[in-house]
Amino acid sequence: MNVTGEPSFRESVDMMFRRATALMDLGPGLQEKIRVCNSTYTVRFGVRLRGKIETFVGYRSVHSEHMEPVKGGIRFSLGVNQDEVEALAALMTYKCALVETPFGGSKGGLCVDPRAWDEKELEQITRRFAYELIKRDLIHPAQNVPAPDMGTGEREMAWIADQYARMNTTDINAKACVTGKPPHAGGIQGRVEATGRGVQYALREFFRYPEDVAKAQLSGGLAGKRVVVQGLGNVGYHAAKFLSEEDGCKIIAVIERDGAIVDEAGVEIEALRQWMNDHDGHLAEYPKGKHVANGASVLESDCDILIPAALEGVINLGNAARITAPLIIEAANGPVTFGADEILRKKGCVIIPDMYANAGGVTVSYFEWVKNLSHIRFGRMQRRQEESRHQLLVNELERLSADKGLGWTLSPGFKEGYLRGAGELELVRSGLDDTMRGAYQAMREIWHSRPEVEDLRVAAYIVSISRIAATYKSKGL
Ligand code: NAD
Repeated sequence: MNVTGEPSFRESVDMMFRRATALMDLGPGLQEKIRVCNSTYTVRFGVRLRGKIETFVGYRSVHSEHMEPVKGGIRFSLGVNQDEVEALAALMTYKCALVETPFGGSKGGLCVDPRAWDEKELEQITRRFAYELIKRDLIHPAQNVPAPDMGTGEREMAWIADQYARMNTTDINAKACVTGKPPHAGGIQGRVEATGRGVQYALREFFRYPEDVAKAQLSGGLAGKRVVVQGLGNVGYHAAKFLSEEDGCKIIAVIERDGAIVDEAGVEIEALRQWMNDHDGHLAEYPKGKHVANGASVLESDCDILIPAALEGVINLGNAARITAPLIIEAANGPVTFGADEILRKKGCVIIPDMYANAGGVTVSYFEWVKNLSHIRFGRMQRRQEESRHQLLVNELERLSADKGLGWTLSPGFKEGYLRGAGELELVRSGLDDTMRGAYQAMREIWHSRPEVEDLRVAAYIVSISRIAATYKSKGL
């Protein structure tokens, strides 16, 4: 327990795990094997910066190696600590099992404020951290494959990939040592947007089931739903952008580090993000809507969907009773503490849990890893062949129409859409959509078929723990 009377993040994940295993028929030994974190490596290293040696502390935690490589992001933040990294590594294990990506769970973190250093300095720090992990095989295409997380993105992943390639000059699969790279450095189309896109696909799937929507005391589809988003970083920005531009949701508030912008008419996400880019990440002076200095209080505002997409523990014993959103989708990892989860459940709030809601990132990372190992872009072999087969059919329909004097014509819009073969981005989105639908259906089947399963989180844990247990059993454990 910490000073607020709440369990730590890792304890919170363990308690959620135990809520699920209490409803499962697993031996205590196997439960314990699945729950524990296998290892955590701590590194302290020095980098000469601005004329003196700065010491940094970093971690790479491996939660479960029931499948290898293990997978999980690298976070750059001053809040990074061993407990947090271990909690996030555990969530990665459960998440990978839920969305059927063939990985164990891992996570890394470096205690650094990325905004405190310029690009060249950050590159030195990242490369040195990567060097420490690579030489211990804690970054490796077959054993441990990081990805972006809070405070890191394509740029950092490209530095890590290059560092690995320099240290492993004959490894033909070097690019597969890390995912989330920019497309020109071995990345895949659609990875940057993937986690936010996954949040959108998760909500679309949820709203396909009127009885699930009714459990959240809502009705109808996504269009017109009033949404509050916390965190306009990679995940929050993409989720808010897609939901407002493509699904007709209205983003009525965006909460950031320096307060919130509230606008009942709908916040223009692209314009706000542009403003933040131009103002050193700040939104306080944004000219539209109302600025609320106490951003966290806006989590409590009246809305249909609340999307915490910043960091863990933001909905806790201190504010859970005042949260009014009937539906929360956990775009961030661990935004709702164990105690808050209980309070919200009792109030009838439906929570779409993190291990499912933000699994879009690891899903597309999986596609990127496969692409790197196969050394060929998705769609390269089939795309034109697919187009020529479609063209054959269109030609034949047009010939039949002309021969029989039927006067049929295919509309130009149909022809254009039908004739175009799928490129990498379309294939990635299709694979992601399929994954998000499949995982939701697996969770909801448990949720609806077992009366003792109260919520989607326990259902998600049951699906993933069963799969991990089956893997261990087939290994003879
Ligand atoms: P990011 O660094 O791109 O964005 C985080 C945003 O949250 C930033 O805009 C930051 O200013 C804001 N923020 C920080 N503290 C805040 C506070 N106290 N109140 C309000 N806003 C605050 O990070 P991200 O990659 O978008 O990750 C966000 C969350 O999503 C994390 O929990 C991460 O673990 C999870 N996640 C990320 C990915 C991914 O692919 N990037 C995948 C799965 C899960």
